[in-house]
Amino acid sequence: EKCKEIAKDNLLVIFMIIAVIVGVGMGLGLRNQISTDDKKAIFFLQFPGDLLLNMLKLLILPLIVSSLISAMSGLKAQASGKMGLRTIVYYLVTTFCAVVLGIILVVTIRPGYQRESAIERSGSPKSAEGLTSLLDLIRNCFPDNLVTVCFEKRETKMVYEKITVYPPTTEAPTSMNATNVSMTTVAPKIIDGKLLSIGLVYQSGMNVLGLVVFSLFFGGILARLGEKGRPLIDVFDCLHLVTMKLITLVIWYSPFGIIFLIAAKLVAMENPGEMFTQLGYYMLTVLVGLAIHTFIILPLVYLVITRKNPYKFMYGMLQALLTAWGTASSSATLPVTMSCLEERNHVDPRVTMFVTPIGATVNMDGTALYEAVAAIFIAQYLDMSLSFGEIVIISLTATAAAIGAAGVPSAGLVTMAIVLSAVGLPVEEVRLILAIDWFLDRFRTAVNVLGDSFGAGIVAHLSQKELEEMDREGDIHKYLME
Ligand code: ASP
Repeated sequence: EKCKEIAKDNLLVIFMIIAVIVGVGMGLGLRNQISTDDKKAIFFLQFPGDLLLNMLKLLILPLIVSSLISAMSGLKAQASGKMGLRTIVYYLVTTFCAVVLGIILVVTIRPGYQRESAIERSGSPKSAEGLTSLLDLIRNCFPDNLVTVCFEKRETKMVYEKITVYPPTTEAPTSMNATNVSMTTVAPKIIDGKLLSIGLVYQSGMNVLGLVVFSLFFGGILARLGEKGRPLIDVFDCLHLVTMKLITLVIWYSPFGIIFLIAAKLVAMENPGEMFTQLGYYMLTVLVGLAIHTFIILPLVYLVITRKNPYKFMYGMLQALLTAWGTASSSATLPVTMSCLEERNHVDPRVTMFVTPIGATVNMDGTALYEAVAAIFIAQYLDMSLSFGEIVIISLTATAAAIGAAGVPSAGLVTMAIVLSAVGLPVEEVRLILAIDWFLDRFRTAVNVLGDSFGAGIVAHLSQKELEEMDREGDIHKYLME
């Protein structure tokens, strides 16, 4: 009886674990049947996965707007200020811990020097793109149009190996239209017998950051309207309820979609042997760092602050973590993250609504760690020694680059430009780590989501007083509280 109950409670998680195993098995099995060049077959194979991605992305807009506006409209200025401060402090501290951890590991393991045969070096240092990227980040906070905010274009200069590596071909541009990275070739040149192109990379897709900032202000003002604002607050509460119910439906579909996302990715993978041997140490450094952050640092922070079992909390988030691993996008995972936090870990919805959408956009521990490791790896590889000052600059810019990265696949690779150019490393050398990025992206996205989740748990714990006060005064969220 008890077993049955436990199985029922964990049904979705069990499905999800099975899905990942089946996806990996199916992908590896099909590699013999389908060639990596058979784009059509891969496209069909990925179809059920594309449906999942579309459904998740579709929910981002109503979810972010309704969550943030509802949350802000119910909080007094003082309470939202306090919660906001706690959130920001947690984000900055944990992100910076991740960066420092990454730096310690990459300086100790020295993956850039562990090479047998060199991947040919090329090119001369490019001019700095750092400042423009930072200005872009600030500009994104203030979108000029609420409608086009959903499909804005952001431009970054980057090098990619045409045809073979970038963009990851199975994440076919046509089916990734909500949050996409696309590019145009500017100056092709042949290096090493491979066609390399300097491309303009467009991170087109939703400007989530702009949406977050707008919703925060909108909700904040709505809160100050008093009785007059009531009808609109009811509307957003209601929208939130409906969106959460829709998410439950999508979540039941997600194990099925995940199988095909993973299988298609594995079938499309090119030269895995080469990738793992040439970049093995680099990959190991990033993965060890992510593992330490996941299993030691974040749980420790959670344990010290809340005195609750962090691993139980992590288990509650498993569904979201696997979705993050399967989709490589924290934005697409946001619906699942919120649902796990509320349904399984019982974090107060007023906190998850406020904290998680912001976290999915700006708090990326995994990405920050990866940016620092990758930049120093590239420097080691090119035999460029870095002074202590330069390492400090890398730690600061890696934090900024992680904040600036959108929650979409490979966004961290694009914002690498900020880190590299800040210390005068050639931006086009990101090509060294291109081949393996899709793989590391999945792990760092899962860590990003875990960081957001622990953040929500911690802020909820620290904000108990404010929440109780809201309860005493009669919560304004009529629909949500029912
Ligand atoms: N894919 C990551 C995310 O969505 C961002 C990155 O590329 O690091 O969180």
